[in-house]
Amino acid sequence: MLKIGITGGIGSGKTTVCKVFEILKIPVFYADDAAKSVMNKDPHLIDAIKREFGSELYSEEEILDRKALAKLVFNNSQALEKLNSLVHPAAIQAFEDWSKEQDSPYIIKEAAILFESGSYKDCDFTILVYTPENLRIKRVMKRDNTTEAEVRARIDKQMPEDKKRELSDFVIENDGSTALLPQVLSLHGYFLSRSKLNKS
Ligand code: ATP
Repeated sequence: MLKIGITGGIGSGKTTVCKVFEILKIPVFYADDAAKSVMNKDPHLIDAIKREFGSELYSEEEILDRKALAKLVFNNSQALEKLNSLVHPAAIQAFEDWSKEQDSPYIIKEAAILFESGSYKDCDFTILVYTPENLRIKRVMKRDNTTEAEVRARIDKQMPEDKKRELSDFVIENDGSTALLPQVLSLHGYFLSRSKLNKS
């Protein structure tokens, strides 16, 4: 079963593209959602986060105060690195467990930090969803009801899109003038044929 990694900067349209693959019956693992959910589920990880960042971050029902944690790591790269190093192995395991349950010619992992985390190395192919920065800012401001400065601050923390483009096998252009569906269908056909080749 081929593993395809999909990434892109904030608001590039990763989820939108993945929803199209889902319509084609391709299973998609949303790594960012999974990382959030393991922080509320994995008892070892919960203990480690409490030890490192304070037990008051969790309620009595072991629900994480995400905003408080985000505040702690937002302008502290060392703390963010530490958090990622705790969450990453649990998220990788969640993907492994999930992928074993799938029965499909190929599966997709959607991750904002596919390249930064190194998890692209476990993918057979990678796709960058590319949208020009100004359009991403407009779309995220509308989607999250937030300010331009807030979106720019998040963009500044991400790997530049040029670098991601260099590292990707394929690019889906989501600039509003290039239709998504034909691009997805073309990649879908390619991955199906590659998965047949892999089997024979
Ligand atoms: P994040 O990194 O924040 O999770 P994302 O890369 O998953 O974002 P989406 O949530 O898919 O991006 O898209 C961002 C916003 O842009 C959404 O509101 C989505 O509906 C809108 N959008 C995405 N692609 C298009 C498009 N081609 N035309 C119009 N709107 C779009």
